[in-house]
Amino acid sequence: MPIKSRIRTIPHYPHQGIMFRDITTLLKDPVGLRLTIEKITNQYKEARIDTVVGIEARGFIIGTPVAFQLHTGFIPIRKKNKLPAKTAGRDYQLEYGSDRVEIHVDAIQQGNRVLLVDDLIATGGTAEAAVKLIEDMGGEVVACCFVIDLPDVGGRARLEKSGYEVFSLCEFE
Ligand code: IMP
Repeated sequence: MPIKSRIRTIPHYPHQGIMFRDITTLLKDPVGLRLTIEKITNQYKEARIDTVVGIEARGFIIGTPVAFQLHTGFIPIRKKNKLPAKTAGRDYQLEYGSDRVEIHVDAIQQGNRVLLVDDLIATGGTAEAAVKLIEDMGGEVVACCFVIDLPDVGGRARLEKSGYEVFSLCEFE
């Protein structure tokens, strides 16, 4: 388990009862970082990806080297009011309240084949909002990939039920 064993778990962060999966220990390890990028890149090198979209903030760290290796560009999806030019957004529900993801309206070209990248999928709410936003912009989501899947929380099943391909490098209960 070269990926999973390099991920650190912080109990009760950021709230009591949450087991936070921390990829900083994976990223600082030369083998861990290389394997992470290589495994995602190898999975999608024949998939004719036009652009990689990463979700703030850890999706930027993983997504940019994946884009570099796939010879594509990289597009950020950010939380609200962070991007400087004209944006489009999607709101999504959290356990308490709601949040919003945004993208520059001119970032994706009609028909672009997009690989979506984030560090972790839990409920899938963030990824689903990102997928819809990419589609609003005319992009086609080829796959959603994550370093970590929490299958018990159901996000992967949620995306797959809607017809999206999901790829992850490891799972935690
Ligand atoms: P979801 O929307 O419930 O699928 O939550 C996924 C989002 O929350 C991703 O953008 C993750 O970066 C973040 N997240 C949730 N739990 C963790 C964790 O344990 N470690 C790192 N990120 C997390």
